[in-house]
Amino acid sequence: MNHLHLSSFATERDLRLSIVEAGRICYASGLMLSNNGNLSMRLGGDSVVITPSGMCKGRLEPEDLLIVDLDGQIIKADSKRKRKASSETAMHLEAYRQRADIRAVIHAHPSNATALTVAGIPFPVDILPEVLEGLGPVPTTRFALPSSDDNARAISELVKDHNAILIRNHGAITFGTDLDEALSHLERLESVAKTVVTAHLLGNVNHLPDEMMPALRELYFKMRSR
Ligand SMILES: [Zn+2]
Repeated sequence: MNHLHLSSFATERDLRLSIVEAGRICYASGLMLSNNGNLSMRLGGDSVVITPSGMCKGRLEPEDLLIVDLDGQIIKADSKRKRKASSETAMHLEAYRQRADIRAVIHAHPSNATALTVAGIPFPVDILPEVLEGLGPVPTTRFALPSSDDNARAISELVKDHNAILIRNHGAITFGTDLDEALSHLERLESVAKTVVTAHLLGNVNHLPDEMMPALRELYFKMRSR
């Protein structure tokens, strides 16, 4: 059973278990090393289950997670564990406030995708077909201080039209209708970035033929309208 693919009727316990599982996947695949990154899921219309700050996301227990409202106020936290909500909570809440379809958010520091922002190379839509087939354009924000409300402001204009956003010299944030989709976007983002970085290292980057781009853009618009 895929625990990351939850319906809107999932219980709080289901959400906690799926976030713990996704955290383990992100850690094991190198997308969230050390205590980097954070994951959340919408619980009902106006509250969110989110990971704690300062902990490795590969070694969480369901009780480590907190519940906050859309203003960031803590609704529920295990009193014995004394966890604090993710330092990037404001960025997660910005996405939930703007788009009712978003039910899961992941912020990570994928090394190849982040390296593109450090090198000043925009994330390309015309090198691998899977970008427009399964992800869509990925913009890069200005630099904003990590763990600050400024990060929420930096992504604010971009949330509406994107499934994934790169944060300059910092990392990435992806959205999904469930955790499975948000994770899939993150994995695709990093996988494409790795190929692009490798091609740059090899010294040549072949772009997709111009005549193929209209068909790929059509696939993207079909995906968006689903
Ligand atoms: Zn970060």
